[in-house]
Amino acid sequence: MEPDIFADAVRSGDRRALARAITLVESTRADHRVAAAKLLEQLMPHTGDSFRIGISGTPGVGKSTFIEAFGNHVIKQKRKVAVLAVDPSSAVSGGSILGDKTRMERLACRRHAYIRPSPAGQTLGGVARRTRESILVCEAAGFDVIIVETVGVGQSETAVAEMTDMFILMLQPGGGDELQGIKRGNLELADLLLVNKADGDMVSAARRSIADYRNALQFLSPRSSNWPVPVVGCSALKEEGIAGVWQSVLRYWDALSKDDEIAARRAAQARTWMWAETAESLVAQLKEHPEVRARVRDLEDAVTQGRIPPTTAAEQLITIFRSARAKN
Ligand code: GDP
Repeated sequence: MEPDIFADAVRSGDRRALARAITLVESTRADHRVAAAKLLEQLMPHTGDSFRIGISGTPGVGKSTFIEAFGNHVIKQKRKVAVLAVDPSSAVSGGSILGDKTRMERLACRRHAYIRPSPAGQTLGGVARRTRESILVCEAAGFDVIIVETVGVGQSETAVAEMTDMFILMLQPGGGDELQGIKRGNLELADLLLVNKADGDMVSAARRSIADYRNALQFLSPRSSNWPVPVVGCSALKEEGIAGVWQSVLRYWDALSKDDEIAARRAAQARTWMWAETAESLVAQLKEHPEVRARVRDLEDAVTQGRIPPTTAAEQLITIFRSARAKN
């Protein structure tokens, strides 16, 4: 399909076009990358008009149950919700913690919702890059709340925090040990801490956890001076506290819009993204170059056996690449 016709179909809300567009941006095939870049250029003027929310938490904390309840609530507020996933487990093993299609069944059926499992079989960097582009595609298709879900594995939380406007960390009710287990870095990324499963016999444990996390946050600096990070409880299963989370999201938006902080955050993210793309693309070109490929094995062996330091080998690879490029 011609890029402009394709772009129009995506913008009109045609769901098959949307699914095809995301498949295209997820593809690593060189010709697909060219087509995806053209499509994104067409869509670019129609992006940016959404609220991008990252949600993370360990498997079992209740992310999909929460997103289902939250997504349905947001739809009732006359918004359109897209859910994307960044799942590093799918990059490592080909299997996925987040990606199976049976999750969020009720939400998936809604006309104003779109749920996309994470692309499998790429590096975290690759998945993150595609997800960023999928966010843009969903925005052009008219979705105004984009949820990016991830598990607390590897660097995926940082990657998601770097592509969203607000980062929500979901936690289980638990004792002090639980609190110790949360990486300080992840607490620092969070704009909202959400203690889920505040129901049944876990109500008092949840209350204690909320107090503990509030305490812990006093010793951390929030990401924005306009926003003291709240700790709230909810029950995704019983659908209690969901409206309160949405209210917090709206308050956050207001607080950060005052000093144009959302725009500043996005601008910084775009610059980081540009440099990440540049670095990745340069390395890919370098690795593909025949003269580099001819030498790579020897250099890897030399490094593995400790004959030369990795820094020297890296310098040599770059020198080989540069002089080969200069010759061509
Ligand atoms: P995910 O792996 O983070 O996506 O977690 P799920 O949403 O799949 O939930 C894991 C388990 O916790 C399931 O058995 C859910 O029914 C249960 N669960 C999720 N939210 C709640 C909640 O608010 N209260 C209780 N009691 N159980 C919950």
